[in-house]
Amino acid sequence: MAQYDYLIVGAGLYGSVMARELTDVGKKVLVIDKRPHIAGNVYTEEIEKIQVHKYGAHIFHTNNKQVWDYVNKFAEFNRFTNSPVANYKGELYSLPFNMYTFNKMWGVVTPKEAMEKIEEQKKEADIKEPHNLEEQAISLVGKDIYEKLIKGYTEKQWGRPCTELPAFIIKRLPVRLTFDNNYFNALYQGIPIGGYTKMVEKMLDGIEVRVKTDYLKNKQKLGELADKVIYTGPIDAYFDYKLGTLQYRSVRFETEVLDMPNYQGNAAVNYTDRETPWTRIIEHKWFEFGKDIEGNDIPKTVISREYSSEWKPGDEPYYPVNDEKNNNLYEKYHDLAETEKKVIFGGRLGEYKYYDMDAVIAAALDKVNIIST
Ligand code: UDP
Repeated sequence: MAQYDYLIVGAGLYGSVMARELTDVGKKVLVIDKRPHIAGNVYTEEIEKIQVHKYGAHIFHTNNKQVWDYVNKFAEFNRFTNSPVANYKGELYSLPFNMYTFNKMWGVVTPKEAMEKIEEQKKEADIKEPHNLEEQAISLVGKDIYEKLIKGYTEKQWGRPCTELPAFIIKRLPVRLTFDNNYFNALYQGIPIGGYTKMVEKMLDGIEVRVKTDYLKNKQKLGELADKVIYTGPIDAYFDYKLGTLQYRSVRFETEVLDMPNYQGNAAVNYTDRETPWTRIIEHKWFEFGKDIEGNDIPKTVISREYSSEWKPGDEPYYPVNDEKNNNLYEKYHDLAETEKKVIFGGRLGEYKYYDMDAVIAAALDKVNIIST
């Protein structure tokens, strides 16, 4: 008999939720991660009393009450509302696309005027049924906004022309004919006070975790420790890339501690022109402290510039490139995964899906329900 019921590969959100839930129904679980820490890409680390999102900005948002109640069992959330600012060659615009953005771009004042402007630009572009990100973007917000706020940013972020990217990526962003800079259409939104690492630590409370443990380098031996394996790493890496490599985008961060209390006045500023080499700058302190909270007297600030690049072996994969070619290859890996009876594949990398945090948690909770009934 194996020592554990489940070996969970990856201590990110998917793995940690699975570990918690399986433990709570009486299973014996071992969690391993190849990194020296838990929490996967939501990992936060304290620098100068500021929680730094080491693998990029994570703002928890959801419409799923069950998921919201779930995460609140492990952390207290602040009332953060994400409102990134776009910087296009020094011109500042509100995001997501809303009446403030339309007013600044075109001088329009009413929703009717904004709608007419978008319609006019859409008509000029003659798009009936959008087939790619460019056509989808122009259909939603018109050519001017596409050119200043979407094209450059997207091409830096994805390293591909907008005409070759799937339309769904831009549909993540709301378009509103109201004055509302809230980036997410989500009933519930916030950041765990004290950081995500603390939240995941609480999820994993009482569960055996081994960090710096690379499953793929020791698959056979580690696999023998448990009856079942839950694998949350890249699905193509699991199969040693034998059907080919799935494409991912990676991100590099340049993090600096600055000797000033306020660098950019906002958590996220997106650089939407093509020339600036970074996509955005995150000023971490604004995630945790409301700008108006008294006592926010930290004299320093921590910023991260994000640079996007094509993933290559040795890099961290962040974003699956869900275009047709990659999705087709993923389907083949998925078929192969179905034949691995002992292994469950899950999470952003295991399912090759541009999942948000809440969707990852919902998927893990669903999976636990299936396997423990
Ligand atoms: N996007 C854009 N301009 C912006 C912000 C986003 O064109 O200022 C596009 C870009 O293609 C990006 C997509 O919208 O990949 C989704 O943005 P989101 O903020 O959801 O990306 P994430 O936070 O997951 O990196």
